[in-house]
Amino acid sequence: MRARAAESMNVPTFAGKGEITFAAKAKPTPGPGQLLVQVRANAVCGSERGQYFHCSQVTPGHEIVGTVVEAGAAAKTPVGELGAIYLMDFCGACRWCRSGWTNQCLAKRADMGFSHDGGYGPFVLVNENIFFPVGADIAADLATMLLDVMGTGAHAVERAQSVHHDIRSLAVLGAGPIGLGVAAMARIILGDAVQVVVTDYNVYRLRLAEKLGARAVDLNHGTIAEAFAGCEMPDVAIDTTGKASARQQAIELLAKRGVLVCVGHGEGLNLEVSKHLIAPERSVLGSEYFPFADLAKNAARLRAHRAYLGQIITHRFPVADIKAAFDLFWKGDTGKVIVEQEGV
Ligand SMILES: [Zn+2]
Ligand SMILES: [Zn+2]
Repeated sequence: MRARAAESMNVPTFAGKGEITFAAKAKPTPGPGQLLVQVRANAVCGSERGQYFHCSQVTPGHEIVGTVVEAGAAAKTPVGELGAIYLMDFCGACRWCRSGWTNQCLAKRADMGFSHDGGYGPFVLVNENIFFPVGADIAADLATMLLDVMGTGAHAVERAQSVHHDIRSLAVLGAGPIGLGVAAMARIILGDAVQVVVTDYNVYRLRLAEKLGARAVDLNHGTIAEAFAGCEMPDVAIDTTGKASARQQAIELLAKRGVLVCVGHGEGLNLEVSKHLIAPERSVLGSEYFPFADLAKNAARLRAHRAYLGQIITHRFPVADIKAAFDLFWKGDTGKVIVEQEGV
């Protein structure tokens, strides 16, 4: 049999300092258990700041939705299937994978778009275990919501639920895409009766939080504490900012038995253990991405709330304009920005 001639694909290269050039890269061939996915949409993420400004050896993009175009030996997913790609290539065999906590895998093989080529190129090669079939009835751009926005958002809310069984109010610190995702998933999971408050300095994003049914608090005109003056203190605060000052205000603000969930990586938190934790029986939890199995739960939620969740996507760019997509996103007046492959 004649060897297949190596095909190439045109991919954006993150050269650093915001420079993105297009260059040819070999189109991958799926090995055993692997899938070649033709990317249709990839959402821009704040975690790509380092790659954008300080260059990347791999093709970035980790909120990927695409169609299987080739399956390697033993892969069971049919060609033509639309799916979302889970960031972490989990081993499936370690203690945490076996109990469903794939986001805590002890032998992770890849973080797609960070350690291995991701979704801003036209094709991405994945191990089949991280491909989640979304079904043909969900549009590719909307399906990207299943990843960082719904997945990370829902997991943070469910982390709080794991220690608090009577959540009546929830504060979300930061109205970036993760904060908006947390707010939306809080409304979907906890119900409309639970008060959701979102704080930020960015007025565009605060308006978006209001559209999602949250009370928006503009920190240009007051502190988080002032926003709660005269109200019951929140049972849960979810920090998506990664800022020590935000976390500090949140821990001071929480009701008795309240839960602070830290989602945004970054700075620290100064805990006075007696005052903040022991006496009021508060909890502080971390929340990292989400377990793979949550994708099925969240696909059902997405089907039930398409238009509501679709509001979080505010801009779409063809991949040829990927730099414009990032530059707009960094300015902050956006919800989720989607980069779409043309002609797919
Ligand atoms: Zn992301
Ligand atoms: Zn594992």
